[in-house]
Amino acid sequence: MASVTFLGTAGGNAVSRQSRASGGIIIVVDDVQLHLDPGPGSLVKAKEFGVNTSNTTAILVSHNHISHCNDVNALIEAMTHSGIEHRGIVLASKSVLQQTDLSFPVVTKYHMGLVEKVIALEKNHKVGIDNVEIHALPVQHTDPTAIGFKIICPKFTIGYSGDTAFSSEFVESLMGVDLLILNVTYPGKRAQGMNLDTDSAMKIISTVRPKMAIITHFGTDMLKLDPITEAREIQRITGVQTIAAHDGLTISPAGYQQNQSPIRGYN
Ligand SMILES: [Zn+2]
Repeated sequence: MASVTFLGTAGGNAVSRQSRASGGIIIVVDDVQLHLDPGPGSLVKAKEFGVNTSNTTAILVSHNHISHCNDVNALIEAMTHSGIEHRGIVLASKSVLQQTDLSFPVVTKYHMGLVEKVIALEKNHKVGIDNVEIHALPVQHTDPTAIGFKIICPKFTIGYSGDTAFSSEFVESLMGVDLLILNVTYPGKRAQGMNLDTDSAMKIISTVRPKMAIITHFGTDMLKLDPITEAREIQRITGVQTIAAHDGLTISPAGYQQNQSPIRGYN
C-alpha cells in the first residue's frame, strides 16, 4: 500500500495568509508513515484529512523556515502520545536540530528526548527506515543547511525538492525518481530569492523525466495565475504528466490513472 497526501500546498506569503493550508505531506509505504515539512496547521489538517499522526514513523524536515517546521514539536507529541511511548524518528536539516550561526534549534530539548532517534542530515547523507531508504538532496536555499529528500521505496522512488534554487547538482541528484514533487512558489520566470518558479520546474522535469510531477508550495502570485494552468504548461512543454496539488489531494500510486492508462512501476 502506498499513498501521498498533501496536508497543505501554500508557500511564500500564502502561508501566513492561509490562502492554502500548510500542513506538509504524508507519504505512506506499507507500515512506514512519513510526515514531510510540517508547517503551521499540520495537526488540524491531519485530522481534517483523516491522517492518524500517532502512526507517524518519521518526521522529515527540510529546513528551518516556518512553513516547513512550525509544527514539528506538536507532531512529536502526537507521534509519542505526549511522551508515553518512546518512539519515532526525526530526520532534519542541521538548522532544525542544532544551533548554528543563523539559527536556534526548532526542536526543543524536551521533544528531542521523547523520540527514539534524532538525525541531523547533511546533503548527500543516507538513512534507512525499514524497507525505505532516504537520501538528503543537495539544495540551495537561504538556509544553507537546507536539504531535499529522495525516498527510495521497494517499488518506486519519490523526490521532494523542499525549497531550492535551480542547480545542476540538484537536478543530477533527482535522476531515477518516479514521482517528483517540486515546491514551485512562483509562476513563470518570477522566482525571488532561492526558490523555484515554473520555468525552472520545466528545466528540472524535462531533464529528470519522472513518470509524474506534482507542483506545490504556491505563493500568492502563483495562486492568482492558477497553479493548474502552470502545471498544464509544464506538461505541454515537457511531455511529462504534471499536476498541481490541492489541499487534501491523495495520490495512490497503485490506482492513479490518467486517460485510462495506468502509471507503470507504481503499486
Ligand atoms: Zn524556505
